[in-house]
Amino acid sequence: MDPRPAHPDSIAAQALGWIDERTRAITPPIHVSSTYLRDPDNQYRSGRVYARADNPAFDQAEAVLSALEGGHQTLLFASGMAAATAVFQALSPGDHVLAPKVMYWSLRNWLTGFATQWGLQVELIDMSEPAAVQAAVRPGRTKLVWVETPANPLWTVTDIAATAQIAHAAGALLAVDSTVATPMLTQPLALGADLVMHAATKYLNGHSDLIAGTLTTGADSDHWQRVRKVRAQLGGTLGSFEAWLLLRGMRTLHLRVRAACASAQRIAEHFQGHARVAEVLYPGLPGCHGHEIARRQMQGGFGGMLSIRVKGGDRGGEAAAVAVAANTALWKRATSLGGTESLIEHRASVEGAGTPAPTDLLRLSVGIEHVDDLIADLEQALDKSHA
Ligand SMILES: *Cc1c(COP(=O)(O)O)cnc(C)c1O
Repeated sequence: MDPRPAHPDSIAAQALGWIDERTRAITPPIHVSSTYLRDPDNQYRSGRVYARADNPAFDQAEAVLSALEGGHQTLLFASGMAAATAVFQALSPGDHVLAPKVMYWSLRNWLTGFATQWGLQVELIDMSEPAAVQAAVRPGRTKLVWVETPANPLWTVTDIAATAQIAHAAGALLAVDSTVATPMLTQPLALGADLVMHAATKYLNGHSDLIAGTLTTGADSDHWQRVRKVRAQLGGTLGSFEAWLLLRGMRTLHLRVRAACASAQRIAEHFQGHARVAEVLYPGLPGCHGHEIARRQMQGGFGGMLSIRVKGGDRGGEAAAVAVAANTALWKRATSLGGTESLIEHRASVEGAGTPAPTDLLRLSVGIEHVDDLIADLEQALDKSHA
């Protein structure tokens, strides 16, 4: 579509405005074929061979994300983990990579428990301090710096532009897990990142009804071609129906993210200094670590994710936090994030030994319910838990 719509809202709302040429349909059909007809002279001029490698059901969703991220190309994967691990699997044994100490727990587990056995040299550092990144990069040896911002479950902020400079000076790629920021709030490629990853399971789809992941690259490269091969050969390919659902979900991304940001900001401000809350972790609070960087790097809000630390009294913060989660009604006790419904979770018990989450911490994924109802439900749960 030319000229390009000026605002991400318009790109999302119309999913780039593509029309099905054959039927004039505004909503795309779902392509389910696993295989494609070869030309009589034995060529594949359509460019399509087999749906493990490539599927027309992906084209529009991938194009929408490339437009929203300002990227060269996007690939859909069967999960956020399939997308993230493809970035590392496209490296070579012996390569040195840097990743944050505070990051999505399953990926951290895979990096330390599996990728290292496979030969990657994984070093976990404090990614919120550019000086720590500078001290840890090994020029010529470090091939990838992995960043998550804001990062689970403390919502630590990483300065993407500063980290990109350090990575590039050492000859490394910078990849950003931007699941929590979404392309509506941050565009990592414009800040210097080489790759952006999303757990599309979360905000991009937004309805807690599919598992999907995406990678967007700023430019073609040998590494990107290897990422394409990882998807095609290992088969972490998304299903056709899931790709269609994801495209439908992304049409309201801007509205959902804006609503979640506004409510998260209100909730963070409401519970900061609350008699039963020891600390609120949210990049939108001026006192929080990373707030100044977030103000520069996030536009239109600070995201829909925050954590609160519950005061415990005699029983201790962990018991109080678990009791608060037990006593909420509107907030649902469940893992995951980025859906229309608000979720509450005691992270330390999910993550187990080695977690950076304090035992009194509750992670909140703010949905799109009325913010007054969300605050009232937390208030009554905090009350009950102290009774
Ligand atoms: C959920 C999540 C992932 C993993 O995505 P899946 O679709 O569950 O595999 C990665 N990073 C972040 C920040 C996430 O929240």
